[in-house]
Amino acid sequence: KVVCVTGASGFIASWLVKLLLQRGYIVKATVRDPNDLKKTEHLLALDGAKERLHLFQADLIEEGSFDAAVDGCDGVFHTASPVLFSATNPQAELIDPAVKGTLNVLKSCVKFATVKRVVLTSSMAAVIVNGRPLTPDVVVDETWFSDPLVCENLKEWYFLSKTLAEEAAWKFAKGNGIDLVTINPSYVTGPLLQPSLNLSVEMILNLKDDIEDVNSSIYPSSDVRDVASAHVQAFEVPSANGRYCLVGHVTPMAKVLKILHELHPSVCPAEKYVKANPSEPTFQVSREKAKSLGVNFLTVEVSLRDTIESLKEKGFLKV
Ligand code: NDP
Repeated sequence: KVVCVTGASGFIASWLVKLLLQRGYIVKATVRDPNDLKKTEHLLALDGAKERLHLFQADLIEEGSFDAAVDGCDGVFHTASPVLFSATNPQAELIDPAVKGTLNVLKSCVKFATVKRVVLTSSMAAVIVNGRPLTPDVVVDETWFSDPLVCENLKEWYFLSKTLAEEAAWKFAKGNGIDLVTINPSYVTGPLLQPSLNLSVEMILNLKDDIEDVNSSIYPSSDVRDVASAHVQAFEVPSANGRYCLVGHVTPMAKVLKILHELHPSVCPAEKYVKANPSEPTFQVSREKAKSLGVNFLTVEVSLRDTIESLKEKGFLKV
C-alpha cells in the first residue's frame, strides 16, 4: 500500500514514517526542502527507506502543492502544521498554514480516487479550550470542541490555528465525502529521531524557567511512539472513525518536575517542586476511544526517561 505523510521531517511524523516503513508501506513523504539534509537525513537512514521512501517538496500555503505526493496513495496522514507558541503575525505564521494547508491537502485528496482515508494530526488544543472548568471531577472526551472565540480572547494563537484547522477539515470532509479521522494529542514527549528540537521536547528543557506556579499547573501528555502508532491504527482499523483524544496521562506539574529532577538535576533543580504537591488531583481525559485503537500508553516516567536519554544522545544535555 502507498501512503503520504505531510511534514515528514517533524518529531511525530518521523516516528510515523518509521512505523509505516516497518509495516511495509511505500511512503511518499513531503518536506519543505528535500535538499536540506538536516531535515531528511534521519528519514533516509530508516530501515526500508532506500526501497520505499520517496521525498516530495510541498508547502502548506501553496495551492496544489500536495498533488504529486497524494497521487496514487491509499491513505494520507496530514501532520504538517506550524508549532509555535509566540508569533508576531499569528494569521500568517500560524492560522493560514494550518487552515489553508489542511484544505490544500484535502483538496488534493479529493482529486485522487485511490485515497480511502485521511488521518489528520489535530490536537487537544482543538478540544479543551472552551471555557468549561477543568476541575478534578471532569473527564474530557471527544465530544468537546474548543471555541475559537475563547482561544482568540486568550490570544492562544496556536490553539486557535489547530481549532480552526480541525473545524475546516470536518466541514470539507463532510461536504466532499472524505473518510476523515483525527488524532488529538496533548504534549508529546519521547525520543527524537530528527537532529533538531521540536517545541514540545524543547519545553522539557525549559520547564524549570517557564512554570510560574507549580501548584496550579498540570501536564497532559503522551509518548511519541504511542501517538505515531495511533495514527497507523487510525488508518488500518476499518471501524476507526471521528476523533481520538490521545492523552496517556494528566500529571500534576510537581510530579513531572520531580521525575525530571531525578533523571537529570540540571533540567529541574529540587527547589522548583519541593513546596508543591506531586499527587494533586487533576482533571482526566478519556482514554477509552484511544484504547479501542489498541493504544496502551507508555507511562509518563518511561516517556520522560527516554526523552532525557535522547536529549543526552543528541547533545542537548550533558551525559
Ligand atoms: P514539528 O515542529 O517537529 O513538525 C511540524 C512539521 O510541520 C514540520 O515538518 C514542518 O516542516 C511542517 N510545517 C510547518 N509549516 C509548514 C509549511 N508552511 N509548509 C509545509 N510544512 C510545514 O512538530 P510536531 O511533530 O511536534 O507536530 C506535528 C503535528 O502534531 C502538528 O500538526 C502539531 O500541531 C501536532 N501536535 C503536536 C503536539 C506536540 O506536543 N508535539 C501535540 C499535539 C499536536 P519543516 O520541517 O519544513 O519546518
